[in-house]
Amino acid sequence: MAASLRARLWLSYAVLILVLLCSMGSGIVVSLFNSPWLYRQDILRMQLTEAATAQLLSALPMADTAGLDQIIQDQASQSDFQLAIYSPSGAIVASSGQENLLPNLTFPLQNVASNSDQLSVKSFIDVDRRVRFYTMQSLRDGYYLLVETPRPRGLLLAFFGSELFTPILISGIFAFLVMIIVGLLMDRWISKPLNKMKDAARSLAVGNYQVIPVEGPQEIQQLAQSLNEMGKQVRESSQSQRDFVSNVSHELKTPLTSIQGFAQAIMDGTAQTPEALHRAAEVIYKEAGRMSRLVLDLLTLARLEAGTADLQKSGVDLNELLKNVVDKFALQAQQNQVSLEWKEQHLPTIIGDGDRLAQVFTNIIDNALKFTSAGGRITLSAVQKLSQVIISIADTGAGIAPQDQKRIFERFYQVDKSRQARVGRGVGLGLPIARQIVLAHGGDIWVESQPGKGSTFMVRLPVARSDDTTLQVKMKDL
Ligand code: ADP
Repeated sequence: MAASLRARLWLSYAVLILVLLCSMGSGIVVSLFNSPWLYRQDILRMQLTEAATAQLLSALPMADTAGLDQIIQDQASQSDFQLAIYSPSGAIVASSGQENLLPNLTFPLQNVASNSDQLSVKSFIDVDRRVRFYTMQSLRDGYYLLVETPRPRGLLLAFFGSELFTPILISGIFAFLVMIIVGLLMDRWISKPLNKMKDAARSLAVGNYQVIPVEGPQEIQQLAQSLNEMGKQVRESSQSQRDFVSNVSHELKTPLTSIQGFAQAIMDGTAQTPEALHRAAEVIYKEAGRMSRLVLDLLTLARLEAGTADLQKSGVDLNELLKNVVDKFALQAQQNQVSLEWKEQHLPTIIGDGDRLAQVFTNIIDNALKFTSAGGRITLSAVQKLSQVIISIADTGAGIAPQDQKRIFERFYQVDKSRQARVGRGVGLGLPIARQIVLAHGGDIWVESQPGKGSTFMVRLPVARSDDTTLQVKMKDL
């Protein structure tokens, strides 16, 4: 099972602190290993023994070897150090024990303390490879007194027994407490927000959207923001799915009810006269046509959105395309007493599906005509900017409120359904289809509008460059 983040945090802190303490402790032990500091008790005793022996020896002439030997033996047995007296030439005059364990010295000796206050401890390695400490003091007439002892065993014991051990232990406990506190803070800081996210993600999976509080370190905050954003989108998307189903059912229900009603009238004989029968057949035909258009539009939209629409791309003469669409609406514009203007101009060739692009402008002009009252004006114009051309369709119609301007490109969105019902029988799929077609051409569509003054729809399409290999390939394909 994967360890939780919390457990890992705690563990890594524990390991970190342990490693720190161990390396600190072993550093101290290593540095103390060869230092006489740890053995200062023994050294002090050596010092005292040396001083006391020197004192006793000062009362005897150096020629009295038996007397010297006696003092050395006495002092050695009292102190369990080895003692020895050297003559000025380095010969051992008196010694308390194993002479082979004495240091190898070269006479005359350098840097030897002349009295016991300036004791200096030296070390050497004996024939058994043990470290030994010794002190050397000069007596009178060039004689020397040596006090020597093996370095006490049990370095670790000495360390644990020393005053250093307590502060290290205290700092270890302190570090451990700090670890617990930092761990707790980290836990609050990282694990808690993550747990909240986990809960929120789980409840999102079952359809409950919760806003995750943005807290913790920067990365966790960014994650919370992204999750909130995702949650919002999931909610919107499931809402739009529900809306879609209800919109489609609603749009299909109305014509179906009509068809059902008129078919019933024919069946039960309510519509008997040829006129009534003709009227019923006409309604059934019209409503069936409406349903078929709706289903076709939905299919087109679904294919465009999924990117599976089969676009027949080729070089398109925009000028001709716009002229044809405008011509198609000329009569209707005249009937509505709306002027529809398009001044032909030199426009670049673009790569695209001519029929689909014509559908884009048809939808936009169709809407403009629906929403522009008599005496109004609809003007088409185009400008080329670098590698793109922007076509604008401006009307002097009802205009669109700012909050609706983005939404009119959503499926089934209609600003005012009741008014829409009066001006024409759209279902709110015209602009979404137009948008998807433009997007499929690598372009963009948007609207600028002032309610009461009119709207301008802009369509931006990329222009095929003359050296465009896509164009050449496409043209060759034709
Ligand atoms: P519809 O099939 O209802 O025309 P569209 O997707 O083409 O659907 O348009 C969506 C909505 O955008 C319309 O219902 C209308 O409210 C608004 N609209 C579109 N074009 C215009 C315009 N030129 N002036 C005012 N409102 C417009």
